[in-house]
Amino acid sequence: MQSNNKEPLNTLMLSSSKEDIEKAAKIIRDGGLVGMPTETVYGLAADALNGNAVSKIFKAKGRPGDNPLIVHVSSFEDIEKYNLVKKIPEKAKILAEKYWPGPLTIIMEKSDIIPGEVSAGLDTVAVRVPSHKVAASLIREAKTPIAAPSANLSGSPSPTTAQHVFNDMNSRIEAIIDGGECSVGVESTVITLAGEKPRLLRPGGITLEQLRSTLGEVEMDDAVLHKLKEGATAASPGMKYKHYAPKANVVILKGGSQKYIDYVNSRCDKNTAALCWEEDVEKLKCKTLSMGGEKDKESQAHRLFDELREIDNDENIKTVFARCPDTKGIGLAVYNRLIRAAGFEVIDLEKI
Ligand code: AMP
Ligand code: MG
Repeated sequence: MQSNNKEPLNTLMLSSSKEDIEKAAKIIRDGGLVGMPTETVYGLAADALNGNAVSKIFKAKGRPGDNPLIVHVSSFEDIEKYNLVKKIPEKAKILAEKYWPGPLTIIMEKSDIIPGEVSAGLDTVAVRVPSHKVAASLIREAKTPIAAPSANLSGSPSPTTAQHVFNDMNSRIEAIIDGGECSVGVESTVITLAGEKPRLLRPGGITLEQLRSTLGEVEMDDAVLHKLKEGATAASPGMKYKHYAPKANVVILKGGSQKYIDYVNSRCDKNTAALCWEEDVEKLKCKTLSMGGEKDKESQAHRLFDELREIDNDENIKTVFARCPDTKGIGLAVYNRLIRAAGFEVIDLEKI
């Protein structure tokens, strides 16, 4: 199947059967686009070595051309096999040994094989080996590295189900493989090894604590927790864009349970919702969207994007009061996504 940029495409829904993965692999080899399940979020897959195919990803998503893509391979050995980087740093071997396959993306100096569309003009490339069986089979079957950003329209929450992908991408891409819900639910951790010291650019399923225990010193990029200053250059261009934002106004409330409940209940009406912990649900007087238990950070990561999309499904919701996640472990990834959804609007309830 050849994709046509002008005509709307008839998006095929595929299962994760062997036959359907073969169909999807053929679409990729022919230069088309496929929604692909991974353990983090659904990806929008194209042949990473075909610049023309990769450029269709940017078009389908409405993604700014200066935001590079992650290249997915099926094993560490593929990096050499496809000659993706100039040199594999020793620290990349150590990280790969420990965390691949899994939700960790490593940035290294790119080789000339990587099309400019993938690296968005940078001299580095981001590489990951996903652990999801369907993603791994698709990469092997396509017999090429796969470039894949999250399969959402640019600016929207990342998709964690095939239905989310369909809602955003129907008629823009050739096919979607339904591999069920993504287990992690937030995008991969991104670490760069292209600078002097390892630096965390985006928190995700592999935590900063894990990276530090494996490598020793790991810096955290300012953009992880803070809004980039006007005119500053982003180490990870994705961090500079408005992201994950539902249409409603999201405000993060920092503070204990009772303060949160009192604040929200005194402002509740039909246009208000609470993005909260499971323990808060019974005590709140407005619509609630639970991210799971206060201590259950895995559940918070798993459910965040689905709940953000749920906000868009209810036209009545104009304001969302979100509880502030704890930033330890995978909580750092949840906080990083939520402050972007909130446009960095955080109210400290202990200070009012
Ligand atoms: P997505 O897959 O949509 O979550 O986007 C990939 C993320 O990885 C974006 O935030 C990109 O800016 C980042 N990224 C990809 N390649 C590079 C690179 N070579 N250098 C820095 N960041 C990168
Ligand atoms: Mg994305």
